[in-house]
Amino acid sequence: MKTLTFANGDQLPILGLGTWKSAPGAVYDAVREAIRIGYRHIDCAAIYGNEAEIGRALKDAERAGEVKREQLWLTSKLWNSDHSRVGKALEKTLRDLQLDYLDLYLIHWPVPLDPSVTFPSKPSDILSPAQQPYAATWRGMEEVARAGRARHIGVSNFSVKKLSDLLPHCEIKPEVDQVELHPFFPQPALVRYAAEQNIHLTAYSPLGSSDRPAQMKGKDEPSLLQDPVIATIAKVHGVTPAQVLLAWHVTRGIAVIPKSVSPARLRENLAAAELTLSIGDLERIDTLDRQFRYVDGSLWTPAGGPYTLQTLWDGP
Ligand code: NDP
Repeated sequence: MKTLTFANGDQLPILGLGTWKSAPGAVYDAVREAIRIGYRHIDCAAIYGNEAEIGRALKDAERAGEVKREQLWLTSKLWNSDHSRVGKALEKTLRDLQLDYLDLYLIHWPVPLDPSVTFPSKPSDILSPAQQPYAATWRGMEEVARAGRARHIGVSNFSVKKLSDLLPHCEIKPEVDQVELHPFFPQPALVRYAAEQNIHLTAYSPLGSSDRPAQMKGKDEPSLLQDPVIATIAKVHGVTPAQVLLAWHVTRGIAVIPKSVSPARLRENLAAAELTLSIGDLERIDTLDRQFRYVDGSLWTPAGGPYTLQTLWDGP
């Protein structure tokens, strides 16, 4: 599989397995099956509530001789309540995943929360960047990187502005920004900026995240999987629409982490890493941009809180 290379030579397999919403009882089997068929990159997060089960799957796969730790790329994310205690949060994740180190640790959201809550129930639960500066959180990330507990560190849901504000404060630069990317939301300015800064991008919700909780969904959301342009390209290549959506990132040199707990779809998604789209395909897909986010961040923007959608995303 194609990989993305880091400054120290480490290689991130370009297609990985997403695990948000992979339910207890299902995620163990999904991770075991994924490893058996060749996935080597798994995207986790403390807030997904399933790291202990993923840890058991990783350990059992290793014990069964199916994979060695050093062949895997394991990412996890610092939850919003933990911005002021990065080391402690990472130690919990490492215990749950049964690991000595992560390959990549990300600040999950540029939205620090009061450390006593997991989700905000009132606007004051959300801390402003003045109360908990991103640069302070980043110092905690640098400490865990220096201690060797995370080989690489990065961010998630950071705009060009938030990245460029953070960079002057960094001794170790963020190496990855994990963001929503798909043909309806291709973020060309962020893609250009990340390339200039040697920051790798990872695309989340590449298939439209249709299993999100109902309260996170809008009315009449457009469907990536049913888009006619994607369907036509899929037909030409003799593949599925999901494979076109995933291959689009691979062709552009962006990592992608589709979530599935279905053995058939795990296979289908992995095979997409071997499909290369033509320049004509890419041009047709370019016409689909409609600046549409599935994960719109509105949870973090209650009236009276420190963020609006504009200051959260610094754009659409
Ligand atoms: P995806 O776009 O990956 O969509 C997942 C949904 O698509 C599931 O319902 C899955 O069902 C279904 N699916 C999977 N493969 C196929 C296929 N080949 N054909 C049709 N349907 C398919 O959504 P996610 O939001 O889960 O994004 C992927 C990952 O990105 C997350 O799991 C998480 O790891 C990460 N993420 C990170 C965020 C962040 O803030 N950093 C935010 C959102 C996601 P089934 O399981 O039944 O196959």
